[in-house]
Amino acid sequence: MLIIPEALIAGLLTPEDAFAAVEACFAAMARGQAYNFPVVREALGEGRQYGFKSGLDRVGGQLGVKAGGYFPGNASKGMINHQSSIFLFDPETGRPQAMVGGNLLTALRTAAASAISIDRLARSDARVLGMVGAGHQAGFQLRAAARVRRFDRVVAWNLHPEMLPRLGEVAAELGLPFEAVTLAQLGAEADVIITITSAPAASLMSAHVRDGTHLACMGTDTKGKQEVEAALVARAAVFTDEVAQSVSIGEAQHAVAAGLLDAGAITPLGQVLIGEHPGRMSPGQVTLFDGTGVALQDLAVAARVVERARALGLGLEVEV
Ligand code: NAD
Repeated sequence: MLIIPEALIAGLLTPEDAFAAVEACFAAMARGQAYNFPVVREALGEGRQYGFKSGLDRVGGQLGVKAGGYFPGNASKGMINHQSSIFLFDPETGRPQAMVGGNLLTALRTAAASAISIDRLARSDARVLGMVGAGHQAGFQLRAAARVRRFDRVVAWNLHPEMLPRLGEVAAELGLPFEAVTLAQLGAEADVIITITSAPAASLMSAHVRDGTHLACMGTDTKGKQEVEAALVARAAVFTDEVAQSVSIGEAQHAVAAGLLDAGAITPLGQVLIGEHPGRMSPGQVTLFDGTGVALQDLAVAARVVERARALGLGLEVEV
């Protein structure tokens, strides 16, 4: 088994690699070649969450699990709140093949999913990016979004405004003017909105959002979390990584539970990627990607990292 520690990951996978790996994985899911197993996600108390996401890609030959979660006390100890490790197994024999640090990979594969949704669903003339959230993932999200649209500027809101300057530095690196605004201003100006918070209740309301907006709702990955009003989800054409996760742990859980949205009306983004669904139907339509985070994304990026590490002779090989 090859052990690839967190410190090696940045040198082994670029954001572009993550984008390609996640696109391929969503397409494989839509073709029925790859599927995720039911998610285990448990509350540990004090806001801590821990769980397992696992899956199998028959064609790609990937079987594995990501174990980890969200530990909100970490930031004050100098660690990031998300902590995870990815394990890959030989799908024929079940033998362990690799253990890969999952923290940077999670950020890259989550940002890639959001960027794929923007690439495929946002209006091509989108110019203003709205960011709701300014934590660890937000900078990755902003960088990935800027790769798929020519944004002129970024407007941002966060419940904890003292976190916004760090996101502003990322915008500055990308040469994008950055302004902290109210949610009403954000919704009135943004063509694309990314939500990436750990909120337990909706901040962004339907009345805030203009027709024609694309939303990538990326923060809600557990039962009970919520970033946007259920009425906004019901108003939008809803796309997701996986419908089963969207209705149970994703942003759509609330609209579905309230009877405002039928699970059958939610489209896997992979169907757009393989040409089975046209995606956005008109310039005025609100589109919403419910990015819940699936195991196959983790396995896809981890497999690329393992391939590259083996080619470069990196990592630690151990007998298990
Ligand atoms: P973080 O702890 O670094 O940042 C948390 C963010 O949420 C900050 O912007 C903070 O101000 C905001 N926030 C905290 N409490 C809030 C509240 N009550 N109301 C509104 N906002 C609040 O976290 P992160 O690593 O940036 O992750 C953000 C979220 O994304 C988490 O919920 C995490 O579980 C989720 N996530 C999802 C995926 C996926 O695939 N969908 C992947 C990774 C992380």
